[in-house]
Amino acid sequence: MAVSISHLGYKKLSQMIFEWQAVDRTSLLALFIVMEVSLHWLWCLLVWLQQDAVESYVNIHYLYPLWFGISLTGLFFLCMYKYLPHTENKNDALDEWQIALVLIYTFYIATVIVVIGYSSLFAGVSVVGGAMLGMMLIKRRYAWRMFWLQISLMLMAIIVPYFGVSLPNLRQLTVIHPLIDTHNYLTYNELMAIENAIAASAFENNILGWESISEVQRSSAFFWRSTHLYLALPKAIFIVYMFRSLLLVLDDSRQETLQHANQDGLTQLKNRRYGLKKMKYTLATVQDHQDLSVMLLDLDWFKRINDNYGHDVGDQVLIEVSQTLSQSLSDEAIISRYGGEEFLIVLPNTQHDSAMVIAEQLRLSIADKAISLNNMFEFNVTASFGLYTLTHKERACIAKTYKSILQKRILPQTETVPLIKPIATQRAENMASMQKLPSDICQRLISAADKALYEAKHRGRNQVVSANKMLNETTGGTHTLYKKR
Ligand code: GH3
Ligand code: MG
Ligand code: MG
Repeated sequence: MAVSISHLGYKKLSQMIFEWQAVDRTSLLALFIVMEVSLHWLWCLLVWLQQDAVESYVNIHYLYPLWFGISLTGLFFLCMYKYLPHTENKNDALDEWQIALVLIYTFYIATVIVVIGYSSLFAGVSVVGGAMLGMMLIKRRYAWRMFWLQISLMLMAIIVPYFGVSLPNLRQLTVIHPLIDTHNYLTYNELMAIENAIAASAFENNILGWESISEVQRSSAFFWRSTHLYLALPKAIFIVYMFRSLLLVLDDSRQETLQHANQDGLTQLKNRRYGLKKMKYTLATVQDHQDLSVMLLDLDWFKRINDNYGHDVGDQVLIEVSQTLSQSLSDEAIISRYGGEEFLIVLPNTQHDSAMVIAEQLRLSIADKAISLNNMFEFNVTASFGLYTLTHKERACIAKTYKSILQKRILPQTETVPLIKPIATQRAENMASMQKLPSDICQRLISAADKALYEAKHRGRNQVVSANKMLNETTGGTHTLYKKR
Protein backbone atom coordinates (compact mmCIF):
# COMPACT_ATOMS: atom_id res chain seq x y z
CA MET A 1 0.00 0.00 0.00
CA ALA A 2 1.31 3.45 -0.86
CA VAL A 3 0.06 5.29 2.19
CA SER A 4 -0.67 4.57 5.80
CA ILE A 5 -1.98 6.41 8.84
CA SER A 6 1.60 6.98 10.02
CA HIS A 7 2.03 9.18 6.94
CA LEU A 8 -0.10 11.87 8.49
CA GLY A 9 2.85 13.50 10.30
CA TYR A 10 3.57 17.13 9.53
CA LYS A 11 6.65 16.52 7.36
CA LYS A 12 5.02 13.64 5.51
CA LEU A 13 2.01 15.81 4.91
CA SER A 14 4.18 18.34 3.13
CA GLN A 15 5.46 15.57 0.86
CA MET A 16 1.92 14.41 0.27
CA ILE A 17 0.74 17.82 -0.79
CA PHE A 18 3.70 18.90 -2.86
CA GLU A 19 5.51 15.79 -3.95
CA TRP A 20 3.24 12.78 -3.93
CA GLN A 21 1.69 11.46 -7.08
CA ALA A 22 -1.97 12.28 -7.67
CA VAL A 23 -2.73 8.58 -7.34
CA ASP A 24 -1.27 8.46 -3.83
CA ARG A 25 -3.30 11.45 -2.75
CA THR A 26 -6.49 9.91 -4.12
CA SER A 27 -5.63 6.70 -2.32
CA LEU A 28 -5.13 8.64 0.90
CA LEU A 29 -8.55 10.26 0.51
CA ALA A 30 -10.07 6.81 -0.01
CA LEU A 31 -8.37 5.74 3.23
CA PHE A 32 -9.84 8.71 5.11
CA ILE A 33 -13.28 7.79 3.79
CA VAL A 34 -12.79 4.19 4.93
CA MET A 35 -11.99 5.53 8.41
CA GLU A 36 -15.09 7.73 8.42
CA VAL A 37 -17.35 4.95 7.12
CA SER A 38 -15.95 2.58 9.78
CA LEU A 39 -17.09 5.00 12.48
CA HIS A 40 -20.59 5.00 10.98
CA TRP A 41 -20.56 1.23 10.79
CA LEU A 42 -19.63 1.00 14.48
CA TRP A 43 -22.45 3.39 15.32
CA CYS A 44 -24.93 1.07 13.55
CA LEU A 45 -23.52 -1.87 15.48
CA LEU A 46 -23.97 -0.03 18.76
CA VAL A 47 -27.59 0.88 17.95
CA TRP A 48 -28.30 -2.70 16.94
CA LEU A 49 -26.82 -4.01 20.19
CA GLN A 50 -28.87 -1.48 22.18
CA GLN A 51 -32.06 -1.86 20.14
CA ASP A 52 -34.20 -2.85 23.12
CA ALA A 53 -33.28 0.36 24.91
CA VAL A 54 -33.54 2.71 21.92
CA GLU A 55 -36.43 1.28 19.92
CA SER A 56 -38.86 3.89 21.21
CA TYR A 57 -37.03 6.68 19.38
CA VAL A 58 -34.95 4.90 16.69
CA ASN A 59 -36.65 3.34 13.70
CA ILE A 60 -34.81 0.02 13.63
CA HIS A 61 -36.38 -0.93 10.25
CA TYR A 62 -34.39 1.80 8.54
CA LEU A 63 -31.24 0.81 10.39
CA TYR A 64 -30.75 -2.44 8.43
CA PRO A 65 -30.69 -0.95 4.90
CA LEU A 66 -28.55 1.90 6.19
CA TRP A 67 -26.10 -0.53 7.75
CA PHE A 68 -26.02 -2.56 4.55
CA GLY A 69 -25.32 0.57 2.47
CA ILE A 70 -22.58 1.65 4.87
CA SER A 71 -20.95 -1.79 4.63
CA LEU A 72 -21.03 -1.72 0.81
CA THR A 73 -19.60 1.81 0.70
CA GLY A 74 -16.85 0.87 3.14
CA LEU A 75 -15.92 -2.14 1.00
CA PHE A 76 -15.88 -0.02 -2.16
CA PHE A 77 -13.51 2.57 -0.68
CA LEU A 78 -11.33 -0.15 0.84
CA CYS A 79 -10.96 -1.69 -2.63
CA MET A 80 -10.21 1.73 -4.10
CA TYR A 81 -7.56 2.34 -1.45
CA LYS A 82 -5.91 -1.01 -2.18
CA TYR A 83 -6.25 -0.97 -5.94
CA LEU A 84 -5.38 2.67 -6.73
CA PRO A 85 -1.59 2.58 -6.14
CA HIS A 86 -1.34 0.07 -9.01
CA THR A 87 -2.91 2.45 -11.51
CA GLU A 88 0.16 4.69 -11.57
CA ASN A 89 0.63 6.91 -14.61
CA LYS A 90 -2.76 6.05 -16.00
CA ASN A 91 -4.30 9.48 -15.86
CA ASP A 92 -7.59 8.57 -17.53
CA ALA A 93 -8.14 5.69 -15.13
CA LEU A 94 -7.31 7.94 -12.21
CA ASP A 95 -9.83 10.53 -13.40
CA GLU A 96 -12.49 7.83 -13.55
CA TRP A 97 -11.61 6.69 -10.04
CA GLN A 98 -11.78 10.25 -8.75
CA ILE A 99 -15.18 10.81 -10.37
CA ALA A 100 -16.44 7.53 -8.89
CA LEU A 101 -15.08 8.55 -5.49
CA VAL A 102 -16.77 11.94 -5.65
CA LEU A 103 -20.14 10.59 -6.79
CA ILE A 104 -20.33 7.64 -4.41
CA TYR A 105 -19.11 9.66 -1.44
CA THR A 106 -21.57 12.47 -2.22
CA PHE A 107 -24.56 10.13 -2.38
CA TYR A 108 -23.35 8.26 0.67
CA ILE A 109 -22.98 11.42 2.75
CA ALA A 110 -26.30 12.79 1.46
CA THR A 111 -28.05 9.56 2.49
CA VAL A 112 -26.52 9.56 5.97
CA ILE A 113 -27.41 13.24 6.38
CA VAL A 114 -31.04 12.60 5.35
CA VAL A 115 -31.36 9.62 7.66
CA ILE A 116 -29.72 11.33 10.63
CA GLY A 117 -31.15 14.81 10.08
CA TYR A 118 -30.09 17.55 7.66
CA SER A 119 -29.96 20.26 10.30
CA SER A 120 -27.42 18.34 12.33
CA LEU A 121 -23.89 19.29 13.21
CA PHE A 122 -22.81 16.27 11.18
CA ALA A 123 -24.38 17.69 8.02
CA GLY A 124 -22.50 21.00 8.33
CA VAL A 125 -19.14 19.40 9.05
CA SER A 126 -19.56 16.88 6.24
CA VAL A 127 -20.45 19.34 3.52
CA VAL A 128 -17.78 21.94 4.35
CA GLY A 129 -15.05 19.60 5.63
CA GLY A 130 -15.48 17.06 2.85
CA ALA A 131 -15.05 19.73 0.19
CA MET A 132 -11.95 21.17 1.92
CA LEU A 133 -10.30 17.78 2.27
CA GLY A 134 -11.21 16.91 -1.31
CA MET A 135 -9.60 20.10 -2.61
CA MET A 136 -6.37 19.15 -0.88
CA LEU A 137 -6.24 15.63 -2.21
CA ILE A 138 -7.98 15.27 -5.56
CA LYS A 139 -8.62 17.47 -8.59
CA ARG A 140 -10.08 20.70 -7.24
CA ARG A 141 -12.81 20.89 -9.85
CA TYR A 142 -14.12 17.48 -8.80
CA ALA A 143 -14.15 18.52 -5.12
CA TRP A 144 -15.89 21.76 -6.06
CA ARG A 145 -18.56 19.85 -7.99
CA MET A 146 -18.92 17.41 -5.09
CA PHE A 147 -19.58 20.36 -2.80
CA TRP A 148 -22.33 21.75 -5.02
CA LEU A 149 -23.87 18.32 -5.54
CA GLN A 150 -24.06 17.84 -1.77
CA ILE A 151 -25.64 21.28 -1.34
CA SER A 152 -28.20 20.45 -4.05
CA LEU A 153 -29.05 17.10 -2.47
CA MET A 154 -29.51 18.76 0.90
CA LEU A 155 -31.80 21.38 -0.58
CA MET A 156 -33.77 18.61 -2.26
CA ALA A 157 -34.06 16.79 1.07
CA ILE A 158 -35.54 19.94 2.56
CA ILE A 159 -37.99 20.56 -0.28
CA VAL A 160 -39.29 17.14 -1.36
CA PRO A 161 -41.38 16.39 1.78
CA TYR A 162 -43.54 19.40 0.80
CA PHE A 163 -44.35 17.56 -2.42
CA GLY A 164 -45.54 14.51 -0.55
CA VAL A 165 -42.35 12.51 -0.84
CA SER A 166 -41.46 10.97 2.48
CA LEU A 167 -37.82 10.44 3.19
CA PRO A 168 -36.56 7.86 5.64
CA ASN A 169 -35.59 9.21 9.04
CA LEU A 170 -34.03 7.06 11.70
CA ARG A 171 -35.33 9.29 14.41
CA GLN A 172 -38.93 8.41 15.09
CA LEU A 173 -41.83 9.54 17.24
CA THR A 174 -43.66 6.85 19.07
CA VAL A 175 -46.91 8.78 18.74
CA ILE A 176 -48.56 8.47 15.35
CA HIS A 177 -50.72 11.31 14.17
CA PRO A 178 -52.00 11.90 10.62
CA LEU A 179 -50.42 15.36 10.51
CA ILE A 180 -47.04 14.10 11.66
CA ASP A 181 -47.34 11.15 9.35
CA THR A 182 -47.85 13.39 6.32
CA HIS A 183 -44.82 15.48 7.18
CA ASN A 184 -42.83 12.63 8.54
CA TYR A 185 -39.47 14.07 7.55
CA LEU A 186 -38.79 16.40 10.41
CA THR A 187 -35.61 18.01 11.58
CA TYR A 188 -34.11 17.36 14.95
CA ASN A 189 -35.54 20.61 16.33
CA GLU A 190 -39.02 20.00 14.91
CA LEU A 191 -39.11 16.56 16.48
CA MET A 192 -37.96 17.99 19.79
CA ALA A 193 -40.74 20.61 19.69
CA ILE A 194 -43.41 17.97 18.97
CA GLU A 195 -42.06 15.67 21.64
CA ASN A 196 -42.11 18.46 24.18
CA ALA A 197 -45.70 19.36 23.28
CA ILE A 198 -46.83 15.74 23.54
CA ALA A 199 -45.05 15.34 26.86
CA ALA A 200 -46.60 18.52 28.26
CA SER A 201 -50.09 17.49 27.13
CA ALA A 202 -49.73 13.93 28.46
CA PHE A 203 -48.51 15.31 31.74
CA GLU A 204 -51.35 17.83 32.05
CA ASN A 205 -54.00 15.21 31.30
CA ASN A 206 -52.44 12.76 33.75
CA ILE A 207 -52.02 10.16 31.00
CA LEU A 208 -48.46 9.42 32.00
CA GLY A 209 -46.44 10.11 35.08
CA TRP A 210 -43.81 12.81 34.83
CA GLU A 211 -41.03 10.34 35.53
CA SER A 212 -41.78 8.02 32.62
CA ILE A 213 -42.22 10.89 30.13
CA SER A 214 -39.07 12.70 31.10
CA GLU A 215 -37.13 9.43 31.17
CA VAL A 216 -37.93 8.68 27.51
CA GLN A 217 -37.34 12.31 26.53
CA ARG A 218 -34.03 12.55 28.29
CA SER A 219 -32.60 9.34 26.91
CA SER A 220 -33.86 10.12 23.40
CA ALA A 221 -32.35 13.61 23.43
CA PHE A 222 -29.13 12.31 24.90
CA PHE A 223 -28.93 9.54 22.31
CA TRP A 224 -29.42 11.85 19.32
CA ARG A 225 -27.18 14.59 20.62
CA SER A 226 -24.35 12.15 21.25
CA THR A 227 -24.96 10.63 17.81
CA HIS A 228 -24.47 14.03 16.17
CA LEU A 229 -21.34 14.69 18.21
CA TYR A 230 -19.96 11.21 17.49
CA LEU A 231 -20.48 11.59 13.76
CA ALA A 232 -19.28 15.18 13.48
CA LEU A 233 -16.50 15.82 15.95
CA PRO A 234 -13.83 13.27 14.86
CA LYS A 235 -14.25 14.49 11.28
CA ALA A 236 -14.09 18.15 12.32
CA ILE A 237 -10.98 17.60 14.47
CA PHE A 238 -9.27 15.62 11.75
CA ILE A 239 -9.99 18.16 9.01
CA VAL A 240 -8.89 21.10 11.16
CA TYR A 241 -5.69 19.18 12.02
CA MET A 242 -5.05 18.60 8.31
CA PHE A 243 -5.60 22.27 7.56
CA ARG A 244 -3.37 23.38 10.38
CA SER A 245 -0.61 21.15 9.01
CA LEU A 246 -1.23 22.41 5.50
CA LEU A 247 -0.89 26.01 6.65
CA LEU A 248 2.37 25.17 8.47
CA VAL A 249 3.65 23.54 5.31
CA LEU A 250 2.63 26.57 3.25
CA ASP A 251 4.30 28.93 5.76
CA ASP A 252 7.51 26.92 5.49
CA SER A 253 7.46 26.86 1.73
CA ARG A 254 6.68 30.58 1.59
CA GLN A 255 9.66 31.21 3.85
CA GLU A 256 11.81 29.01 1.63
CA THR A 257 10.64 30.72 -1.55
CA LEU A 258 11.32 34.15 -0.06
CA GLN A 259 14.77 33.04 0.98
CA HIS A 260 15.53 31.74 -2.51
CA ALA A 261 14.19 34.94 -4.03
CA ASN A 262 16.43 37.13 -1.85
CA GLN A 263 19.55 35.05 -1.42
CA ASP A 264 22.52 34.31 -3.62
CA GLY A 265 22.83 30.56 -3.90
CA LEU A 266 26.64 30.42 -3.92
CA THR A 267 27.73 32.93 -1.30
CA GLN A 268 24.58 32.90 0.86
CA LEU A 269 24.71 36.70 0.83
CA LYS A 270 21.66 38.67 -0.22
CA ASN A 271 21.33 38.95 -3.98
CA ARG A 272 21.41 42.10 -6.11
CA ARG A 273 17.61 42.42 -6.25
CA TYR A 274 17.29 42.30 -2.49
CA GLY A 275 20.34 44.55 -1.96
CA LEU A 276 18.79 47.23 -4.15
CA LYS A 277 15.37 46.85 -2.54
CA LYS A 278 16.89 47.20 0.93
CA MET A 279 18.97 50.16 -0.18
CA LYS A 280 15.88 51.91 -1.54
CA TYR A 281 14.03 51.27 1.69
CA THR A 282 16.96 52.51 3.79
CA LEU A 283 17.15 55.71 1.75
CA ALA A 284 13.43 56.27 2.19
CA THR A 285 13.57 55.82 5.95
CA VAL A 286 16.92 57.45 6.77
CA GLN A 287 16.78 60.11 9.50
CA ASP A 288 17.19 63.78 8.54
CA HIS A 289 20.64 64.19 10.11
CA GLN A 290 22.16 60.88 8.95
CA ASP A 291 24.65 60.27 6.13
CA LEU A 292 24.59 57.09 4.09
CA SER A 293 27.61 55.45 2.45
CA VAL A 294 27.63 53.10 -0.51
CA MET A 295 30.56 50.85 -1.33
CA LEU A 296 31.18 48.77 -4.42
CA LEU A 297 34.03 46.28 -4.32
CA ASP A 298 35.41 44.09 -7.05
CA LEU A 299 37.97 41.31 -6.72
CA ASP A 300 41.23 41.95 -8.55
CA TRP A 301 42.39 39.69 -11.36
CA PHE A 302 39.66 37.23 -10.56
CA LYS A 303 39.57 35.83 -14.05
CA ARG A 304 43.16 34.69 -13.56
CA ILE A 305 42.13 32.73 -10.46
CA ASN A 306 39.52 30.93 -12.51
CA ASP A 307 41.97 30.36 -15.34
CA ASN A 308 44.84 29.19 -13.12
CA TYR A 309 43.07 27.14 -10.46
CA GLY A 310 39.69 26.34 -11.99
CA HIS A 311 36.14 27.55 -11.53
CA ASP A 312 35.63 25.61 -8.28
CA VAL A 313 38.49 27.46 -6.62
CA GLY A 314 37.02 30.70 -7.96
CA ASP A 315 33.74 29.77 -6.27
CA GLN A 316 35.58 28.98 -3.04
CA VAL A 317 37.22 32.43 -3.14
CA LEU A 318 33.83 34.08 -3.59
CA ILE A 319 32.45 32.17 -0.59
CA GLU A 320 35.42 33.01 1.62
CA VAL A 321 35.40 36.70 0.67
CA SER A 322 31.67 36.79 1.39
CA GLN A 323 32.30 35.29 4.82
CA THR A 324 34.99 37.90 5.51
CA LEU A 325 32.54 40.65 4.58
CA SER A 326 29.76 39.26 6.79
CA GLN A 327 32.10 38.74 9.74
CA SER A 328 33.76 42.16 9.47
CA LEU A 329 30.64 44.29 9.13
CA SER A 330 27.90 45.07 11.62
CA ASP A 331 24.34 43.80 11.26
CA GLU A 332 23.15 47.21 10.04
CA ALA A 333 25.32 46.96 6.91
CA ILE A 334 23.47 45.70 3.83
CA ILE A 335 25.81 43.33 2.02
CA SER A 336 24.82 41.84 -1.30
CA ARG A 337 26.43 40.10 -4.24
CA TYR A 338 25.98 42.70 -6.95
CA GLY A 339 27.43 40.72 -9.84
CA GLY A 340 29.93 37.92 -10.52
CA GLU A 341 32.80 39.02 -8.23
CA GLU A 342 31.38 42.39 -7.34
CA PHE A 343 29.75 43.22 -4.00
CA LEU A 344 27.53 46.10 -2.96
CA ILE A 345 27.68 47.30 0.63
CA VAL A 346 25.34 49.96 2.01
CA LEU A 347 26.27 51.51 5.34
CA PRO A 348 23.31 53.37 6.83
CA ASN A 349 24.10 56.21 9.23
CA THR A 350 27.81 56.23 8.30
CA GLN A 351 29.76 59.38 7.53
CA HIS A 352 32.35 59.55 4.79
CA ASP A 353 35.46 59.33 7.02
CA SER A 354 34.11 56.35 8.99
CA ALA A 355 33.11 54.63 5.73
CA MET A 356 36.66 55.14 4.37
CA VAL A 357 38.09 53.54 7.55
CA ILE A 358 35.66 50.61 7.26
CA ALA A 359 36.52 50.12 3.57
CA GLU A 360 40.24 50.20 4.34
CA GLN A 361 39.78 47.59 7.09
CA LEU A 362 37.78 45.40 4.72
CA ARG A 363 40.44 45.73 2.05
CA LEU A 364 43.11 44.61 4.53
CA SER A 365 40.98 41.71 5.86
CA ILE A 366 40.46 40.40 2.32
CA ALA A 367 44.12 40.82 1.36
CA ASP A 368 45.34 39.17 4.59
CA LYS A 369 43.07 36.18 4.31
CA ALA A 370 44.97 33.19 2.94
CA ILE A 371 42.91 31.01 0.63
CA SER A 372 44.01 27.41 1.01
CA LEU A 373 44.05 25.00 -1.94
CA ASN A 374 43.48 21.46 -0.64
CA ASN A 375 45.66 22.30 2.41
CA MET A 376 48.69 22.16 0.10
CA PHE A 377 49.02 25.62 -1.28
CA GLU A 378 47.86 29.05 -0.19
CA PHE A 379 47.29 32.24 -2.09
CA ASN A 380 45.77 35.68 -1.45
CA VAL A 381 43.25 37.79 -3.29
CA THR A 382 42.81 41.52 -3.22
CA ALA A 383 39.88 43.79 -3.93
CA SER A 384 39.39 47.33 -5.17
CA PHE A 385 36.83 49.62 -3.58
CA GLY A 386 34.79 52.56 -4.79
CA LEU A 387 32.90 54.56 -2.18
CA TYR A 388 30.35 57.31 -2.21
CA THR A 389 28.78 59.00 0.79
CA LEU A 390 25.47 60.78 0.41
CA THR A 391 25.57 63.39 3.14
CA HIS A 392 22.36 64.53 4.78
CA LYS A 393 22.96 68.00 3.35
CA GLU A 394 23.22 66.74 -0.22
CA ARG A 395 20.18 64.52 0.32
CA ALA A 396 18.13 67.47 1.57
CA CYS A 397 19.28 69.48 -1.43
CA ILE A 398 18.32 66.73 -3.89
CA ALA A 399 14.94 66.33 -2.20
CA LYS A 400 14.28 70.07 -2.40
CA THR A 401 15.22 70.31 -6.07
CA TYR A 402 13.17 67.24 -6.85
CA LYS A 403 10.12 68.64 -5.06
CA SER A 404 10.22 71.85 -7.01
CA ILE A 405 10.65 69.98 -10.31
CA LEU A 406 7.68 67.82 -9.45
CA GLN A 407 5.50 70.77 -8.57
CA LYS A 408 6.41 72.57 -11.78
CA ARG A 409 5.63 69.49 -13.81
CA ILE A 410 2.29 68.68 -12.21
CA LEU A 411 0.88 72.09 -11.27
CA PRO A 412 -0.74 74.15 -14.02
CA GLN A 413 0.23 77.82 -13.73
CA THR A 414 -2.98 79.48 -12.50
CA GLU A 415 -3.22 83.23 -12.37
CA THR A 416 -5.93 83.46 -9.73
CA VAL A 417 -5.75 81.50 -6.50
CA PRO A 418 -8.89 79.36 -6.25
CA LEU A 419 -10.65 78.91 -2.91
CA ILE A 420 -10.69 75.14 -3.29
CA LYS A 421 -7.38 73.53 -4.27
CA PRO A 422 -7.58 71.81 -7.67
CA ILE A 423 -7.11 68.05 -7.62
CA ALA A 424 -3.77 68.41 -9.47
CA THR A 425 -2.48 70.68 -6.68
CA GLN A 426 -3.45 68.22 -3.98
CA ARG A 427 -1.89 65.37 -5.92
CA ALA A 428 1.34 67.28 -6.40
CA GLU A 429 1.54 68.07 -2.70
CA ASN A 430 0.86 64.48 -1.72
CA MET A 431 3.46 63.15 -4.16
CA ALA A 432 6.08 65.65 -3.11
CA SER A 433 5.67 64.73 0.56
CA MET A 434 5.69 61.00 -0.18
CA GLN A 435 8.51 60.75 -2.72
CA LYS A 436 11.28 62.79 -1.22
CA LEU A 437 14.03 61.51 -3.50
CA PRO A 438 14.07 60.77 -7.22
CA SER A 439 13.42 57.15 -8.11
CA ASP A 440 16.85 56.69 -9.73
CA ILE A 441 18.76 57.78 -6.62
CA CYS A 442 20.09 54.26 -5.90
CA GLN A 443 21.43 53.90 -9.43
CA ARG A 444 23.10 57.33 -9.19
CA LEU A 445 24.80 56.43 -5.92
CA ILE A 446 26.01 53.09 -7.24
CA SER A 447 27.21 54.66 -10.46
CA ALA A 448 29.23 57.23 -8.47
CA ALA A 449 30.79 54.40 -6.41
CA ASP A 450 31.42 52.47 -9.64
CA LYS A 451 33.37 55.40 -11.12
CA ALA A 452 35.56 55.42 -8.02
CA LEU A 453 35.99 51.64 -8.31
CA TYR A 454 37.11 52.06 -11.90
CA GLU A 455 39.59 54.65 -10.74
CA ALA A 456 40.89 52.27 -8.04
CA LYS A 457 41.49 49.64 -10.75
CA HIS A 458 43.16 52.26 -12.90
CA ARG A 459 45.45 53.34 -10.08
CA GLY A 460 46.76 49.80 -9.65
CA ARG A 461 44.02 47.88 -7.74
CA ASN A 462 43.93 46.79 -4.07
CA GLN A 463 42.90 50.23 -2.83
CA VAL A 464 39.95 52.34 -1.79
CA VAL A 465 38.93 55.40 -3.79
CA SER A 466 36.39 57.94 -2.63
CA ALA A 467 34.01 59.19 -5.29
CA ASN A 468 33.23 62.25 -3.14
CA LYS A 469 36.90 63.21 -3.20
CA MET A 470 37.20 62.55 -6.92
CA LEU A 471 34.13 64.65 -7.72
CA ASN A 472 35.25 67.45 -5.41
CA GLU A 473 38.61 67.56 -7.17
CA THR A 474 36.99 67.86 -10.60
CA THR A 475 34.27 70.35 -9.61
CA GLY A 476 36.19 72.38 -7.09
CA GLY A 477 34.06 71.28 -4.16
CA THR A 478 30.64 71.93 -5.71
CA HIS A 479 29.79 68.44 -6.91
CA THR A 480 26.30 67.00 -6.80
CA LEU A 481 24.80 63.74 -8.03
CA TYR A 482 22.17 65.68 -9.96
CA LYS A 483 23.22 68.46 -12.30
CA LYS A 484 21.61 71.79 -11.43
CA ARG A 485 18.90 72.79 -13.88
P1 GH3 B 1 39.73 43.16 -12.63
O1 GH3 B 1 40.79 43.22 -11.62
O2 GH3 B 1 39.84 44.22 -13.67
O3 GH3 B 1 38.38 43.18 -12.00
O4 GH3 B 1 39.89 41.80 -13.38
P2 GH3 B 1 38.98 40.55 -13.28
O5 GH3 B 1 39.69 39.41 -13.90
O6 GH3 B 1 38.53 40.34 -11.89
O7 GH3 B 1 37.72 41.03 -14.06
P3 GH3 B 1 36.82 40.36 -15.13
O8 GH3 B 1 35.50 41.10 -15.15
O9 GH3 B 1 37.58 40.31 -16.44
O10 GH3 B 1 36.55 38.91 -14.60
C1 GH3 B 1 35.52 38.57 -13.77
C2 GH3 B 1 35.41 37.08 -13.83
O11 GH3 B 1 34.60 36.57 -12.79
C3 GH3 B 1 34.79 36.59 -15.11
C4 GH3 B 1 33.88 35.46 -14.69
O12 GH3 B 1 34.22 34.27 -15.35
C5 GH3 B 1 34.15 35.31 -13.23
N1 GH3 B 1 32.98 34.94 -12.50
C6 GH3 B 1 31.80 35.59 -12.47
N2 GH3 B 1 30.94 34.94 -11.67
C7 GH3 B 1 31.58 33.84 -11.20
C8 GH3 B 1 31.22 32.77 -10.31
O13 GH3 B 1 30.11 32.69 -9.80
N3 GH3 B 1 32.16 31.82 -10.04
C9 GH3 B 1 33.40 31.88 -10.60
N4 GH3 B 1 34.26 30.92 -10.29
N5 GH3 B 1 33.76 32.86 -11.44
C10 GH3 B 1 32.88 33.84 -11.73
MG1 MG C 1 37.38 41.81 -10.93
MG1 MG D 1 34.04 42.59 -12.18
